[in-house]
Amino acid sequence: MSVVTTAKSVQPRALVTAMPEYHPPLAARTALRLDFNENTFAPSPRVLARLQQLTAEGLTKYPEREPAEMATAAHFGLAADQVLLTNGVDEAIHLLCAAYLEQDDEVVINTPGFFMYDISASMMTSRLVRVQSDASLQFPFARVLAAITPRTKLIILSSPNNPTGSIVAREQILQICAAAPQAAVLMDEAYFHFHGETTLADIATVPNLLVARTFSKAYGLANLRLGMIAGQAALMKPLRKVCSPYNVNGIALECLPVALADDEYVQWYANEVRAGRERMEQALTALGVSFWPSHANFILMKIGSKHRELVEAMRRHGVLLRDRSADPGCEGNVRITIGIAEHVTRGIAALTASLQEINWKAE
Ligand code: PMP
Repeated sequence: MSVVTTAKSVQPRALVTAMPEYHPPLAARTALRLDFNENTFAPSPRVLARLQQLTAEGLTKYPEREPAEMATAAHFGLAADQVLLTNGVDEAIHLLCAAYLEQDDEVVINTPGFFMYDISASMMTSRLVRVQSDASLQFPFARVLAAITPRTKLIILSSPNNPTGSIVAREQILQICAAAPQAAVLMDEAYFHFHGETTLADIATVPNLLVARTFSKAYGLANLRLGMIAGQAALMKPLRKVCSPYNVNGIALECLPVALADDEYVQWYANEVRAGRERMEQALTALGVSFWPSHANFILMKIGSKHRELVEAMRRHGVLLRDRSADPGCEGNVRITIGIAEHVTRGIAALTASLQEINWKAE
């Protein structure tokens, strides 16, 4: 007897079929990494010392998130049930969408922005409302407010924003939260340390506000995948429900309290970036390259039609940049990460040589 198989393929959910994909260009990143807004140098030496104390037996154990979560909450002056540690802010966004979005709920985001908002929101709903910044690439406050409807269930904003480096004023955030009490409002503060303003304390009084922080940038732990999301306990409870128990690995959990305790290191790194950002801005001005004033550890430059050529020339000079030309409203724009002083110096030197090599002129 022969078995007849019918060629019926397994179909994903319609929204998954329709959703976009995100493949950051991670291949061959062996040059100076001024492309992903990471810390370009190292985490606190105390983290490395902690890593060296890890034991073989320790690796055999499932990770326990709670102690590190309690230490993190205490560090930020929050209660343990107001904080969830996640596998990077990427996972925090994912969990938020999974916990809160029905298929016909609306999500409001500001473009150009971090593409993972698109990904995670479109996994759950097709009603993604993208509010595009004008040519100034500043936060379009009035138009974001106007985009709020009774069906808005989630609003995701970032301050400083990636890739523009622009910010959202605290007053504006509070007004948005008040205008959409039926919606969760996520403030993504991944680049907080390079700007210094936060709305974290406002979660005490604003019931629909959530704040996300990452340990991938100033802390220099992108490879450990560590993020945090905070909000009032009632808002956090559904996130905990959809989160898997071992979402953050134990090595990251061991290192986190040590990283948090070394405030001096993070401040040092943030200061390096602030000084480097100023130096890079001066260099760009001298080179005749327009850029958007940035509050983060990167600067978006207006290169024009030679954007691809510049990225290639920089790679030949041993420096990676990120071409953001495909982002909405960013045609011809290229982003450069600001790192420690030495890396900024190398970045400026490579930029000066590359612009000359490709015979670049302002358009
Ligand atoms: N938010 C923004 C605005 C980002 O630019 C990034 C990283 N590129 C993230 C979140 C993700 O951070 P994490 O490494 O914690 O997932």
